[in-house]
Amino acid sequence: MEKKQIIFATANEDKMNEIRMILADLGMEVISLKDAGIHTDIVEDGETFEENAVIKAETIMKETGMITLADDSGLEVDRLNKEPGVYSARYCGRDTSYRIKNRNILERLTDVPDEERTARFVCAVALAIPGGIVEGVESDTVVTVRGTMEGRIGYEENGEHGFGYDPIFFLPEYDCYSAELLPEKKNEISHRGKALRKMKKVLEGYGI
Ligand code: IMP
Repeated sequence: MEKKQIIFATANEDKMNEIRMILADLGMEVISLKDAGIHTDIVEDGETFEENAVIKAETIMKETGMITLADDSGLEVDRLNKEPGVYSARYCGRDTSYRIKNRNILERLTDVPDEERTARFVCAVALAIPGGIVEGVESDTVVTVRGTMEGRIGYEENGEHGFGYDPIFFLPEYDCYSAELLPEKKNEISHRGKALRKMKKVLEGYGI
């Protein structure tokens, strides 16, 4: 029998690789926007990670009629008033390389001591279920969950794994940078891993 499909509303292939690993045991095939041939330009104008995740999940649910998951994630640096936050992908301009984005953050924290370099990755995941296709869910329904990973901004870039801000994100508990973690380890402790495991429980609750 063919596996049922659930759509994950992201065009970011780095995130999609992590998501596929974390949701590998879901019992449903997780397809990306690219897999589904969807090129809708979604305006992420929410003020919180949750708002943006909901915008993405609802837009794609309405377009496809499918059960849809979406995430919105980013880096909060305490000393920078939680910047770049929901603007993480757009920080210094969307097309600017992460080398430049990361160096810019390191520069802004020059001379800032260890204890004030605290930061976290945040991931909000939204589930949008179209009304009438799941038992007991009569009208369109949206649920969100959140996961975080606490750490500090280091003093240089380190590591070859991961993506985005991983090379400057130091994890004191593991004495290494996030980009030095193997993918399995990162998924075990990351904001995205935590949020998606919470979401798996929500899906189970709906019998999905
Ligand atoms: P989104 O696609 O709008 O959720 O953008 C999230 C952005 O936050 C990414 O493009 C990265 O810049 C950053 N980000 C989120 N999660 C991670 C991570 O696990 N490692 C490094 N950077 C991340």
